[in-house]
Order: sequence, then C-alpha cells, then structure tokens
Amino acid sequence: MSKSIPQSISKIIIAIDGPAGAGKSSVAKIIASKLNLTYIDTGAMYRAVTWLALRNSIMLEAQKDILLDLLSKAEITLLPGEKRQRVLLNGFEITDQIRTPEIVKYVSQVSAIPEVRSKLVSLQQQMGEVGGVIMDGRDIGTTVFPNADLKIFLIASSRERASRRQIQQRELGIEEDLDSIQAEIERRDFIDTTRAVSPLSQAADAILIDTDQITIYEVVDKIIATLNTKLGESKKGF
Ligand code: C5P
Repeated sequence: MSKSIPQSISKIIIAIDGPAGAGKSSVAKIIASKLNLTYIDTGAMYRAVTWLALRNSIMLEAQKDILLDLLSKAEITLLPGEKRQRVLLNGFEITDQIRTPEIVKYVSQVSAIPEVRSKLVSLQQQMGEVGGVIMDGRDIGTTVFPNADLKIFLIASSRERASRRQIQQRELGIEEDLDSIQAEIERRDFIDTTRAVSPLSQAADAILIDTDQITIYEVVDKIIATLNTKLGESKKGF
C-alpha cells in the first residue's frame, strides 16, 4: 500500500477527529506505522493535565489558577510505546494512570478551560509543524491544524463506542459496566461538543466515516485510498 505514496509524504499532516471510542487512536496508530508517520494522541495530553489536577487535589472551578501555574511549569512528553503512546509528566511515567475512570470523569471539564486549551494547542502545533504526523483529537482539523493535508472525522453510535471502550479497558485490567461506559461517553460528548472554545465538530472539509458497521482495517483502507487520491490530484502538493 505505502508503495504508491511518494517520499514527500514525510511532510504531511493528517488530522483525525471524532468523539470518544470512534476508533481514532486504533486507526491512527495503524496508519502511522504503515506510512511511517509520527502518531500524536492529543487526548493523552488533556488526560495528563487532568492527572496533574487530581494529583494536586485541585478543585477545578475554584482553583483554576493553581492548575494553570502548575501547567506552565510542567513538561508533557509523548513517546512511542509498544501498545500505546507513552506519556511522561515532568519525567514521571503516567501512561496507565491517565486511563482510569477517575481521569475520564474529569477530563472534559479540564479540557473546557480555555487557558489549558491554548497551552496544549500551541504544544501540539509545535509537535506537528515539521510534518510527517497523524494527530488525533477533537479539534485538530478545526483549530490545531486547519490546513491539514487530510482531515477525517470518525463517528459511531454511542453503544458501539462503549462496547469498544469496554474491550480496551479490559485489556488494561479495568472492568466496567457497558451501560455506565455508554452514559459516561454521552456525558463527555455533551461537554466536548458544547464547550465555548474549540468544541468537538467536523471541519467543513473533513471526510466523515461512520465506523459502526466496518472494521478498523476497512477504515484504514478508506483513509489511505482517500490520501492516495488526494496525492494524485495535487501533483505539486507533498
Ligand atoms: O481521546 P480521549 O478520549 O483520550 O480524550 C479525552 C478527552 O480529552 C476528551 O473527552 C476531550 O474532553 C479532551 N480532548 C479535547 N481535545 C482534543 C483531544 C481530547 O478536548 N484534541
């Protein structure tokens, strides 16, 4: 597959957005490895800030300034990992700690804070500016890289997304009830789509893929086929 992709792909930026559990990270990881791109999971960065808040017992509304001060001194590092991207905060590994139900409970509140978003968005822009990246999140195609070479918006029903999330959590040794996961996903969708700053939304030029009835591999094939078409169309492009 990657044979038909020219060398210059090393500079492209692919944005994958969508709600929780739509398959963004699984798809992005496979494409990154097929096309030799760097995968950046921006959700992990918002989770890391949430971990920082909980670790320091910060009350989100009342003590926002304390969190912003800690964040201004914090260093978030993303490293490639075997199963999932590794996350370090000030050199301390928090890869597994950011996947707990407690983090999930607060992450949408933390990510709705405008100053948190502006800090993380500029970090993400720095990480991606060299190109050769596939970045997943909620606002990559609309805010972080509005000029991304390819924008994909993945969706699926909340039941299907909850069921996928349950399998992922089981792999981490966390057992959760399907109805509770679905309720949590819908609550997060609501906060993510209604927040004032860069809410979750499909960019006008993003390609919508409903992943309900198709496998991750079919989604990957669709995206790579779309990319090939785009590359063919824009000869002077990448
Ligand atoms: O993708 P993941 O489920 O790990 O994201 C966790 C949360 O981080 C989302 O529910 C959302 O509130 C926030 N997020 C965001 N913008 C992004 C990525 C994630 O607001 N680009």
